[in-house]
Amino acid sequence: MKLTFLGTGTSTGVPSIACDCDTCRSDDPRDKRLRVSILIEHAGKTILVDTSSDFRQQALRANIKYLDAVLITHCHVDHVFGLDDIRPLNFRFGAMPIYANEPAWVDLRRIFKYIFEPDHFGGGLPQLVPHTVHHNSPFSIGNELKITPLEVIHGKLSVMAYRFNNFAYATDLNFISEETIELLQGLDVLVLDCVGFKRHPKHLSLNEALAYFERIKPKRAFLTHLNHDVMHGRDSNLLPPNVQFAYDGLIISE
Ligand SMILES: [Zn+2]
Ligand SMILES: [Zn+2]
Ligand SMILES: [Zn+2]
Repeated sequence: MKLTFLGTGTSTGVPSIACDCDTCRSDDPRDKRLRVSILIEHAGKTILVDTSSDFRQQALRANIKYLDAVLITHCHVDHVFGLDDIRPLNFRFGAMPIYANEPAWVDLRRIFKYIFEPDHFGGGLPQLVPHTVHHNSPFSIGNELKITPLEVIHGKLSVMAYRFNNFAYATDLNFISEETIELLQGLDVLVLDCVGFKRHPKHLSLNEALAYFERIKPKRAFLTHLNHDVMHGRDSNLLPPNVQFAYDGLIISE
């Protein structure tokens, strides 16, 4: 399994427009964060999680040539506004399977009405094959990649975390149920939301994320959706040995 962090920033990205803080002015490339997204590659299959608002730039930077499917965590702008940029892959390979939960599909159909209720055909519309995912209803892509959607809570919204064999990706959440914690046991790698150091109504703060790691006990853990309060070089010593701040371009493989 190979996981590539395409983006690790909160919804504004880092640096943040018009901000002169130390992180936004940092020269460290680990402090340059596009909007969150990952690529999973395993047994010849390539899966994108979220078409972020930076998807085009991320796909070019990571040299993405093909995707078997796109999984959507939830329909917030930073996670889906790159959807139109799957078109170059449609032109080459045809319609793209997209997986999302029911609340995300309701919003996607409204926001991207021109895709689902076109007033013309052709002319460069994205082509999707929609699939609805449900909490703890696993499906497979290929023979060796089992994907289990798991519900986490983001304010009041039901968001999908995804478990890929023994890797899991859970962003945009402030609460994980006992049942989901149980279903996240035995992980080699867990990527978890951590917006920064301060408490947030819809995201985990660092201390809350570390408390979940204590209960889920992955072998290795990574924090993403980071805001500009987190400076990678300065703040990494606040973390336990098996936990790291993710950064754009970081690759984990096992
Ligand atoms: Zn987000
Ligand atoms: Zn800043
Ligand atoms: Zn969100």
